[in-house]
Amino acid sequence: MRRGMEPAGNVCDLVRKPYSMKNCEITVYGLVQGIGYRPFVAEMAEELDIHGNVRNAGGVVIVIARGEDGKVEELIEALRCKAPAGARIDQITVDEISESDFNEKTYAANSFRIVESDDHTEELVLLPPDLPTCPECERDLFDSKNRRRYHYPFNSCVKCGPRYSIMRSIPYDRENTTMEGFLICDACREEYGAKGDVRRHAQTIACAECGPQLRLVGSDHNEMAHEDWGGTVRKNPEQYKYRKENIKQLIGRHGQLIGDMALTTGIRELKAGAVVAVKDIGGFHLAFLPTDSEPGRRVREFKKRDNKPFAVMFPSVESIREYCEVSAKEEEILLSDPRPIVLLRKKPGMDFVPEVCGRSDRIGCMLPCNPLQILLLKEVGPLVMTSGNRGGEPIIIRDEDMMKYINRGCPDFMLTHDREILTPLDDSIYQVTKSQMEDGTVREIVQIIRRARGLVPEPVILRDRLVPQDLFAAGGDLKNTFALARGRAVYLSAHFGDLVDLDAAKARTKAIHHMEALFRLAPEWAVADKHPNYISTRAAEESFGSKNVDKVQHHHAHVLSVIAEHGLRGKVLGLAFDGTGFGDDGTVWGSEFLLCDAEHPSSYRRLGHLRTVKALGADEASKNAKLMAACYMYDAEDRHLISEDVDHDEILDPEKHQMVNIALKADFNTFRTSSMSRLFDAAAAILRICEHNSYEGECPIMLEKAASEAAAKLEREEYPKDLLDRINSRAKLRFVLEKENGVWTADASRMIADLRMAKDALIPPDELALEFHAAVVDMIVRITESICRDLREEGEVIRTIALAGGTFLNRIILSHAVAELTNRGYDVYVNEKVPSGDGGLPLGQVYALTK
Ligand SMILES: [Zn+2]
Ligand SMILES: [Zn+2]
Repeated sequence: MRRGMEPAGNVCDLVRKPYSMKNCEITVYGLVQGIGYRPFVAEMAEELDIHGNVRNAGGVVIVIARGEDGKVEELIEALRCKAPAGARIDQITVDEISESDFNEKTYAANSFRIVESDDHTEELVLLPPDLPTCPECERDLFDSKNRRRYHYPFNSCVKCGPRYSIMRSIPYDRENTTMEGFLICDACREEYGAKGDVRRHAQTIACAECGPQLRLVGSDHNEMAHEDWGGTVRKNPEQYKYRKENIKQLIGRHGQLIGDMALTTGIRELKAGAVVAVKDIGGFHLAFLPTDSEPGRRVREFKKRDNKPFAVMFPSVESIREYCEVSAKEEEILLSDPRPIVLLRKKPGMDFVPEVCGRSDRIGCMLPCNPLQILLLKEVGPLVMTSGNRGGEPIIIRDEDMMKYINRGCPDFMLTHDREILTPLDDSIYQVTKSQMEDGTVREIVQIIRRARGLVPEPVILRDRLVPQDLFAAGGDLKNTFALARGRAVYLSAHFGDLVDLDAAKARTKAIHHMEALFRLAPEWAVADKHPNYISTRAAEESFGSKNVDKVQHHHAHVLSVIAEHGLRGKVLGLAFDGTGFGDDGTVWGSEFLLCDAEHPSSYRRLGHLRTVKALGADEASKNAKLMAACYMYDAEDRHLISEDVDHDEILDPEKHQMVNIALKADFNTFRTSSMSRLFDAAAAILRICEHNSYEGECPIMLEKAASEAAAKLEREEYPKDLLDRINSRAKLRFVLEKENGVWTADASRMIADLRMAKDALIPPDELALEFHAAVVDMIVRITESICRDLREEGEVIRTIALAGGTFLNRIILSHAVAELTNRGYDVYVNEKVPSGDGGLPLGQVYALTK
């Protein structure tokens, strides 16, 4: 076993070999680089009068120590228990060394030193994620007596600041980051060496004298002095006049504003309604007021985004509470180190302009994570902070690329700086769902929807399994992430959007090389999705040669990702529900009940799914929900489940309807599918709640929203415990189950036909949406129970259920499925460390090849 690879979250293990004390070598495993661990060790050692040194070596910290017996014990205890914020100690090993070894390793030290890093390669590499501004640095930001750091947007210290996003290579030392070019001033140098200083050995140390500078850049540098510049503010003539008069004096020699002037002008323009590109830790955001329609409209046009809500950054949790419900758990996540976006329920009557959140009943809320954001938010209040890229394209990290858009008129200008970003990172996204059990206990399920800034590159550590050799996992094609794996560590990348976008694919290729270099991993073996036409699969075959690429079925990988992150053992029944995945029979799967074995992860048995239907136009079908509804209706009519004289005009116009029927009959451009998302699409279209996916999952999300509104109406409570029973007792909607050749199927076409007839009977669509959700949960429970009963007859007792795939981001389905299955005695697991959508796929792909 490779040392230092204990499971994440394990209480640290003090593995001590017998020693008589005096000289020893202490190795600290865990997340110990880039969070000021070495300065902390030095301070402890000096306090205890211990001589020797400390150094980074690959992913571990090695301490050579000589001191009185008791004092060295104390030091080891401190290394374990007093580690600075952000550190995670997995294991500490202590080896006694001889006097001469000590002298050789420390040049006979008679003090304690921090030494330059080793260039080790064989150990597991753990790199620090980017960290949010700490309270001390925030204090400096508003301390007007601290000339070098007051309002300086790049304050950071050993406990905070950019890390992974600016790392060129390991170890994490200044010369291996994009801070390399900033020569530190005398005052910073003093702090860097000063005992007890929060910036002692801070690799990102900087101040207004020597560090990166904030700049405000407009469409054309020279135009900044021109009175026409910044047309957005003209609707407020007072402010515009003020700006016009002042900008001429304030402008720097190069036609741009720098430092505090850039900041104050940026703030003023934001308040006046400008769209400002702000360079943050992982890339550009577009910032603008959420209370003004005009900038929102312009940004929607720029991003080619119709309805998908924008995230909003708030100055504090209190200010979020004005707009949204925030539970204790949600507050904890908002304040956690990644400072992620958390999807929170809007308070009744509280909302921004419709251009911000559209029809969504939730707001993606986040808190500032760096000094620039803190400064902006403090002055302006809540701001939309949406990633500064167009839909599907990669995040913009370079000024030149943003300049192109500024010159075209949106955004109006950028607040940028000269610290380069190497790894683009989106904001991470979370949601919390409560699930209430029969016995009254409530389980809070924390899901990561996007795993990026602040979470990448921390590896997921496999519990009992190893990859036999270094491995690359290609992920899927939508919301792509990839992974590198060694031993028990799986390093997942950030998200790359959809690989059909050439720029996204290029950014991914670049990121693969960057991550391989950073982690000193050069796998010669890969794993990819079974889909023969996936871009990610083909790219892997091109780079590794097809004989070196193993294939894993999409939904199997989803289930394995749950098994992997929870370290499950034995047989697991996995439910993987989502939009699309290439099935073993060549049809499009997406509603799988798979019997998996944690100890034999390369195979599975498919024991249940939705009844397969014939559908039309693979690409259009995933966008146009009406088309999918028509396909289900065709199937229902074909099987005489519904009268043929149902009026179809509501779904598709007669001409289109006839074309669809002809194409389905002739098998022209058809495919066969059992996708759960397509069923949700069809239900949303039949109920006329949403008929088009302008972004992935829009129809299912709107269907869920309608259902929860109905639930609220029924109970005036979010998701009442007895709701499901009541809905079921009305027994309007229920899937018909069938078993054929040992496989259970649920009749989706009949469900759509029933929905259609119920709607014609004038039952309100939002209530039907709720009943549809209840029917899906009921189907989940009945098929699970049926499969487990069948397996018991084979002598197999299943207690463990894994829920995976994008459908389980639907909180009604998730909360009720977890509750109903738990009530029946199953242990139910859900993805918590990686996304349950395709962003978590590479973890399952890796697991399939573990031993
Ligand atoms: Zn700090
Ligand atoms: Zn300085």
